[in-house]
Amino acid sequence: MKILINKLFQKSILQKEEWFFLLKNRNKETIDYAFEKAREISLQYFENKVFARGLIEFTNYCKNNCFYCGIRAGNKKTIRYRLFKKDILECCRIGNELGFRTFVLQGGEDPYFTDEKMLEIIYEIKNKYPDNALTLSVGERSYESYLAFKKAGVDRYLLRHETSNGDHYGKLHPNNLSNIPRKQCLINLKNIGFQTGTGFMVGSPYQTIENLAEDLIFITDFKPQMLGIGPFIPHKDTPFSGSPAGNVELTLFLLALSRLLLPKVLLPATTALGTLDPKGREKAVLAGANVIMPNLSPPHVRKQYNLYNNKIATGLETAEGVANLAESMAAIGYKLVHERGDY
Ligand code: SAH
Repeated sequence: MKILINKLFQKSILQKEEWFFLLKNRNKETIDYAFEKAREISLQYFENKVFARGLIEFTNYCKNNCFYCGIRAGNKKTIRYRLFKKDILECCRIGNELGFRTFVLQGGEDPYFTDEKMLEIIYEIKNKYPDNALTLSVGERSYESYLAFKKAGVDRYLLRHETSNGDHYGKLHPNNLSNIPRKQCLINLKNIGFQTGTGFMVGSPYQTIENLAEDLIFITDFKPQMLGIGPFIPHKDTPFSGSPAGNVELTLFLLALSRLLLPKVLLPATTALGTLDPKGREKAVLAGANVIMPNLSPPHVRKQYNLYNNKIATGLETAEGVANLAESMAAIGYKLVHERGDY
């Protein structure tokens, strides 16, 4: 199996059968070897830098009903909130002062935030913080909306494909959702010129090893600039409340393989990983991740953006929090940096 890791390291490509073989027959030795090679690549391209992004979860209203997600429309138990323009700008002000040079606005698909409302927010953020990168993650929108966001100055967009396999997608979502329009959105985002991020959950219900191999093939073809990979974690008020969480080690292995596949990709150590394993984010960095997205949302709403159970809600809204994170990175030989870190 080391031969396959070496091939990936040298050529940054594998066939679907090879991905399947690696994932299916993985053992500790192969996984550790993949981590080592992934670190080698990260160090070559990024030295020992880990980029910090300030995450602002600005609405948990959502019109969609994804079976896995805690803020799905059908979850009547969730207390809904939205941050208005002035609240979002306050998060940016605090984040900017703490040194963050990227803001990520993420939310459910909330019809309140029309293009017009989003554009007002975008203009104001870009006007006040011209040196900061702005990333949006607000789901599927029309080509025209994406184009307007880009023209207003948005730099990056995150939209996970969730799973590349159409049948599997169908088992995770209601009938009105399909991954064909979602993939089209990704193509549109890239064509418009965003640094585009996609990604998937590891261990989502009904997922097979073959599905993961398909995700890696999709990523090979799409070549995203950013890639979010985190374990599925059940949420108690969803149809998947009884499903087991994804495997941490497999998630880390996929991060390492992704680093080998896309050497320059911006690869976050996800919050979901940090939720399942207290050392998850450090382990992710040691497996090739190079981005961390601390939460800048106001403390009183943070618990309400509950995509899954026990989501870590420790914020980095204080200088002390940022210093602690920097310290935990330093302890493993990495440096938390605040530069924009464009692709
Ligand atoms: N509405 C936006 C943002 C979604 S939330 C969009 O559609 O892109 C960001 C990501 O959280 C999702 O893409 C999904 O992959 C992940 N997520 C949702 N529920 C989850 C769960 N139960 N466990 C782990 N990750 C989850």
